[in-house]
This record gives sequence, structure tokens and C-alpha cells, in this order.
Amino acid sequence: MCGIIGYAGVEKAVPLLLDGLESLEYRGYDSAGLALFTPAAELLTLRAAGPLTALRKKAWDSGKLEGGVGIGHTRWATHGEPSEANAHPHRSAGGKYTVVHNGIIENYETLRRELEEEGLAFSSQTDTEVIAQLLERVDTGDPLETLRLALPRLEGSYALGILYEREPDCIYCARKQSPLLAAVTESGTLLASDAAALLPYTRTVFRFEDGEMACLRKNGLRFFDSDGNDLDKTPAELARHVTAADKSGYAHFMRKEIDEQPVTVRRTLEPLLPHGAVELGAAEELLAREEIRHVLFLGCGSAYHVGAVGRLLVEELAGIPAAVDLASEFRGQAALVDPRTLVVIISQSGETADTLQALRLAKEKGARTLSVVNVEGSSIAIESDSVIYTKAGLEVAVATTKAYSTQLAVVYALAARLSECRSGNEPRDFLHALAALPDLMEEVLRASEAPALAWAEEIYTAEHAFFIGRNLDYAAAMEASLKLKEISYIHAEAYAAGELKHGTISLIERGTPVISLCCRPEVVARTKGSMEEVAARGAKLFCVTTDASFRPERRILLPKCHPLLVASLAALPMQLFAYHCAQLRGCAIDKPRNLAKSVTVE
Ligand code: GLU
Repeated sequence: MCGIIGYAGVEKAVPLLLDGLESLEYRGYDSAGLALFTPAAELLTLRAAGPLTALRKKAWDSGKLEGGVGIGHTRWATHGEPSEANAHPHRSAGGKYTVVHNGIIENYETLRRELEEEGLAFSSQTDTEVIAQLLERVDTGDPLETLRLALPRLEGSYALGILYEREPDCIYCARKQSPLLAAVTESGTLLASDAAALLPYTRTVFRFEDGEMACLRKNGLRFFDSDGNDLDKTPAELARHVTAADKSGYAHFMRKEIDEQPVTVRRTLEPLLPHGAVELGAAEELLAREEIRHVLFLGCGSAYHVGAVGRLLVEELAGIPAAVDLASEFRGQAALVDPRTLVVIISQSGETADTLQALRLAKEKGARTLSVVNVEGSSIAIESDSVIYTKAGLEVAVATTKAYSTQLAVVYALAARLSECRSGNEPRDFLHALAALPDLMEEVLRASEAPALAWAEEIYTAEHAFFIGRNLDYAAAMEASLKLKEISYIHAEAYAAGELKHGTISLIERGTPVISLCCRPEVVARTKGSMEEVAARGAKLFCVTTDASFRPERRILLPKCHPLLVASLAALPMQLFAYHCAQLRGCAIDKPRNLAKSVTVE
């Protein structure tokens, strides 16, 4: 989940590694470190707990850090607290192997016990240190051969950057179930876990497949298969909308990404709605096979909330029974899917480990799998039967905004296409409204800024908040609630408005903020009833609505839109509201505590 960078070349490695880590820091930021071969072929490591600035300072204080070959890491701790001792790189006790690692070694306890019994001393609590120690234990004097012998003993996931004490001109690397890329630049070769770190240098990248290894030197890179045979790999070009992280004058990436939503939704919809009709490209073939009897959406976090919208749309527009499930819960259930089930897998990074496992299980059971993914060439994109890409571009803020909105856009197009497959008629009104959605989003963003800030000023000191809504408004309420809690740390819960009276209403006290989403015209009257119920018990009410005749004291009025598209509009003031609450509370908006952008561990 964290970030790996490596460089072998004629430039000084340290500034390059630190810049690379900065562009990866959004993926994990509890500690950072680097290892470097000096011109005298000595191996230096530098590690610091806390954000990257701490490592930068250490590098600065340490004086001259010369040398053109090094690896760096930002960590999102899975095993062991975020301390300096647990920060990567980890070095084997005898000093031969130095390792940075993304992922989890599931059998690390067994391996550690075994190695300790042989007398090896460990200096961290991490699973990663086992890799360095195992490599040293197995070492044959040939690092590639050593990797070939040691890697099969590791269960779990890894992207690895490795320095071998006796080869100061080289970085070894390997991948299993955790993304890794390499590139050749004018000054040398680069290794990174995310394209973001390579973009300043090149758009031509080599993606590692599972089981592949490589060796990077200043004059080129070589790939090997898991048996150590040379591999001739073809590079890929990064898509045009993949751009480097840049705040463009905004205070936070999140605020910039909120504003980018109309553009990214338009970009996502363009290829899906040529000439007003809906056309899903390569995914068409998947839909054309035998009739789809059931649609199942799978995702985690906000992607699950997209699925909650998708489920309602597929049922209403296409009349096909649909369900949504948490990808993280899918494994371990009966998983009743078959070839007539379309399983829609949603993940921004395309590397979400829980979602990837759910995809594999769905495939095993014979289901048709269609992924909705933002990162081209990612594991979920590759492993699913077909993929529709969202065109959100690089999303840096950990709390998703534009990826969520573009995922919704894809799900709308899919529901419309399924409707056409089923009935033979395309849902014209809906498609017409969908094409106009980006314009409406622009309008809503403009109008919501001031009221969202005013609402935030009223509640930012609250400890708890509740979001209520029915049907699509409930799906939108779940996302609004997650947004608020993940970045402002206000405890927030979303409830289906009709459920309140079945228990939760006991939590309402005088002054408890309740944010009500009343956007789907068909349910407004009933949600108003739920608002009355909480108001009678002292709640402080806030309401987002499309109903101009409804005038509660605190209201954000959305423009009229197709009733099936309300979740996309309701999301916008709610994102701004969460953003302002977090800002007023002085939170680290782009990097909320304990979180990471791409959750590549289960
Ligand atoms: N499991 C490793 C650790 O805790 C790496 C975690 C990650 O991928 O961020 O250090």
C-alpha cells in the first residue's frame, strides 16, 4: 500500500528518490527511508518515523549523500508500529541484502521462528525483515538465483526493491500481487510502485507481471521469468489523462479534485455515449453472451457506495435483479454466482486486495466479470473478463471524490445498456440527462461552496453527525458520511431514513446534527417525515434537496435533474461540507490518519 522508488543512473540518487517518495507519499505516510550505495560502494541507510519531511531533514543533515544507485520507501504499517526501527529499508543481519517491500508476507511468523532458531537476530517487528533475512540465509552469491530459491517460500503479496551488498551498481526487484513498474530514462533506470513517480521522467513504462523479476542498472534493465530466464518485455505508454501530482494553486489535492469532477465525468462518459446512444466498447461482448439473470456489484469503501447506486439503477432501469456486497466480505460467503451473473467489480486503483480476491472467487464460480477501474493495466483490469476505465486521472487525496463520480458515471451507462439489452429500447430520457450531467455538476459546485462552508462552521466541533436518506439518497448518505468521518474524524453514520425509528433515533439529542438527503422526488415526502421525527427530539437539521417548494431552515437546493442521477449531484455539496469541516478542525485533509490511498493488503 505504500510506495517504492528506485534509481540506478548517472545522477545523484537521493534527490531523485526523495522527489519520487513525495509523489508516492499519498499511498502511505507513517514513516519513510532510503538506502544508497556511495561512490565508495558502501551501503548507507536512512530512516525516519513520521512524514517524508522528517527523512528529508535527516538526508539534509547527514551532509553529502553521493551515489547513483538507491531505493526508497514510504510505509503504511501492517506489521509493527510506525517507528523508525520498523521503517523500510530492512537489512539482513549480515548486511548482504537490503529490502523495501509493499504488501504482506502471510507466513512471516513461521519464517521468522525458523530463522531465529538458526541464530539470526531481528531488529524490527515487520514481516518485511523476514525477506531480507531469508535472502541472506539462502544466498548463493548470485542474487537472481537467490531470489529464485527464496521467493517461493514467501506466502502473501510483495513488490520488492533489493540492494545486494556486492553489486553496488544494481537494483534487483520482484513482484507478486502488488504493483511494480520500471522505466528507462535518459540518465538511467527507475523502479516505482506507481506511475505517479515516473511521470516527471517518462510515459513509457514496463509493468511487472506476477512472478517476474528484474535487474536495473544505469545502462539498462533486464527482466526475468520466475525460472530466471531472460524475458523480452514490451513497454506500455501511460494514458494521456494520467498526469503528475500538481495542486495547481489549490490548498489541497482534495479541493482540486472536487473541482475536477465535471471534466473527469465528461471525459469518462464521452467514449461510452457516442452520438447519444450507449456503447460499452469491449464490454459489449460480455453482455452479448447468454442472458444476464442477475447483477452483483462488489467494492470496498466508496466503491461499495457506487455499487449501492448501481444496484438500484440496474433494477429500475433494466428490471434485472441486482445486489451489492462488500468485496471484503465476499470471500467466506456462499458466493452464489454463475455464468448468468454479471459481477461488476469497482476499484479506483485496480489493486484493492479485498476486491481482487473477490474478483478471483467470482471467476472461479464461473461468473462474468466486468471491472470499473481507474488505473490502466492494474491487476483487476487485467484479470476481469472486461474493463471499463474511469478517466479520473491521478487522484492524490486519500478520500476519493473524482474517482467516485466517474465510477458512478460508468455504472449509469452500464445500467442504461443493460436496460437496452433487456427491452430492446434505449432509455432515451435517461441518456439525454446523463449527457447533460457534467454541466449540472458544474452548476452545483458553484452554488454549493458558500452554504457548505456555512454548514461546516455550524457543526465542525460536533462529536457525532447522522446522515439520512431513502433509496438513492441513502446510497448518497453512506458516501457523505464516509467522507466526513475519514477526513474530519467526526463520528458520522448514515441511516436509511425509515430505519431511524427502529433503533438509532435513541441517539438523537438536543443539537445532534442530522443531514438529510431529500433528492429523489419519489421519496421526499417520506424523508420529510423522518426529519420531523428527529426535529421533535431536538436534532439540528440540514437538508440537501431538489424540491424547491421544501424550505427547511438550512437547505442546499440542487437543480432539477433526472431522478436516477441525484447521487452524483448530492455528492458535491457533501464533499465540500466534509472538506470544510476537516479544514476548520485543522486535519491533514489529503492524508488522513491511518489511511492509505490504494489498499493493497487484505
Ligand atoms: N508489511 C510491510 C510493513 O508493515 C509493508 C506494508 C505496506 O505495504 O505498506 O512494513
